[in-house]
Amino acid sequence: MIYVTIDGPAGSGKSSVSQNLAKKLGFEHLDTGALYRAAAFLWIHSKKDLKSEEFLKMMDNTSFNLTNNSALFVNGKRLGNEIRTPEVGKVVSKLAEVPQIREIITKKTREIADNKRIVVEGRDIGTVVLPNACVKIFLTASVNERACRRYEDYKSRGVDIQFEEVVKEIKFRDEMDSTRKVAPLKPAKNAIIFSTDGLTLEQVVSELYDLIVEKVKKC
Ligand code: C5P
Repeated sequence: MIYVTIDGPAGSGKSSVSQNLAKKLGFEHLDTGALYRAAAFLWIHSKKDLKSEEFLKMMDNTSFNLTNNSALFVNGKRLGNEIRTPEVGKVVSKLAEVPQIREIITKKTREIADNKRIVVEGRDIGTVVLPNACVKIFLTASVNERACRRYEDYKSRGVDIQFEEVVKEIKFRDEMDSTRKVAPLKPAKNAIIFSTDGLTLEQVVSELYDLIVEKVKKC
């Protein structure tokens, strides 16, 4: 088992970097943001109270499965772009503040990662979920650069949204994610802090790949 964790704020490039790194390393890949988004999607459609026993039980009984190409299946149904909407983006950090929900998702993340060679991305993976990981990376980038990336992503999927609204979403999630009481967004003490500002995806992947390969030799 070899764990590589990639944490960082919204739009820091975690997903593309993690997916590409996993492919290059021959590792599996898990995006824990997708688990929180899937939970938020289920919550929106359940119309139940977020902290109600009913909703928490439903979450605990929800199955999350990954296929070899990183597709996420929730209760046997593939969830893709429907969890990557501004509507889900607006509520997901609120749901991620609830300690009981974090506990459930942390447990499910550990179960999925167990005994694998895997790149796991999120906010608290190096600090809380997999504290003994072999390599921990914390990606950063300026708010403007992160908002540009998220805006381009929305546009490419035909989502109708203004740039200013994306900046607001990013700032709001930064604030919520880094100030929450349980498992806030922050680098692990032994994480490599890496800024992606001004770098292409290929440059980031290539530099991190070399760093990871070196670290993995010593794990
Ligand atoms: O990574 P992504 O931006 O898709 O994550 C969506 C939200 O899920 C984050 O803004 C955060 O509130 C929550 N999250 C979390 N812990 C993680 C992964 C995501 O709180 N490990």
